[in-house]
Amino acid sequence: MKKHNFSAGPSILPQEVLDKAAQAVLNYNNSGLSILEISHRSKDFVAIMEEARTLALELLGLEGKGYQALFLSGGASMEFVRVPYSLLKQNGKAAYLDTGTWAAGAIKQAEKFGETIVVASSKSDNYSYIPKEYSIPTDASYFHCTSNNTIFGTQMQDFPETDVPIVCDMSSDIFSREIDFSKFGIIYAGAQKNMGPAGTTLVVVKEELLGKTDRVTPDILDYSAHIAKDSMYNTPPVFAVYASMLTLQWVKANGGVAAMEKKNNEKAALLYNEIERNLLFKGVAKLEDRSKMNVTFILVNEAHKEQFDKMWKAANISGLNGHRSVGGYRASIYNAMSIESVQVLVDVMQEFEKTIQ
Ligand code: PMP
Repeated sequence: MKKHNFSAGPSILPQEVLDKAAQAVLNYNNSGLSILEISHRSKDFVAIMEEARTLALELLGLEGKGYQALFLSGGASMEFVRVPYSLLKQNGKAAYLDTGTWAAGAIKQAEKFGETIVVASSKSDNYSYIPKEYSIPTDASYFHCTSNNTIFGTQMQDFPETDVPIVCDMSSDIFSREIDFSKFGIIYAGAQKNMGPAGTTLVVVKEELLGKTDRVTPDILDYSAHIAKDSMYNTPPVFAVYASMLTLQWVKANGGVAAMEKKNNEKAALLYNEIERNLLFKGVAKLEDRSKMNVTFILVNEAHKEQFDKMWKAANISGLNGHRSVGGYRASIYNAMSIESVQVLVDVMQEFEKTIQ
């Protein structure tokens, strides 16, 4: 029986995507070949790549606005490096907001390139909130932030108004809510949360920002080289791009990002209401910064852990354990998660309450 998969990533995908991807592994489009054994230069795959790139821009409302979408490999972590290579001017500076482990990872890489200013950090409070009072140096080459902090369960609700190009790691909330995406110079997102299997990263780049660093950049680390080759500078991760394209088709067919946001709001409200109502649990993130993708919570009394764990496992729930740096529980409720599955978790929390009293 299929589990209620609350894993943070790689994570749940729409059943329809899994069915189509499985069929394509056996026989892609009745071609007599598996998607795993066709050339990336074949007509079939070129069409897949083009559709994935077009859909990504369309769903973000960025078509015809000077942006290019790329499907690269190396994970979101590779973009921690490609971003400074592409935007940080020689002897320039970069500004970063430190909201979690992944933001800190990006900062660590930028520091290898040049002056890196951390405009604010919530590290001393174990990243339980998003800092809001900060200023971005006007001479920074770019400002980098992480829209959703997968581990800590916080999410930026607003983005700063600035003339400095904004680079955003949207790995764990891309396509989950409506934002004016044209505010951003670069958006990147590892596929393995809201988009597809691990193996590819969507990078959306405003082309006019490129080519201004005076750096000698190896081609594979240069967005311009990938754009020039239509996202096929080297062999792309064919299957990951295909499955991502299927998810983007699914998002579009189900009403686009606006419809995803509506459903995500309902799921998050259902679960957060229970965390607030049920005195056995406590939320981890500051109320106003709570994530609608990764819901982090703890047991008020650790002594009840064995009982609660037994109950949610018996309810066919999987992937609920929190990250080791936070502890407790983390329910990742990405786009593909149904409200019915969230209800199963809420029911378990309520049953658990009865067994404790
Ligand atoms: N950024 C965020 C927000 C993430 O959640 C993750 C992975 N969980 C990463 C970056 C790193 O991604 P990858 O493992 O694909 O390099």
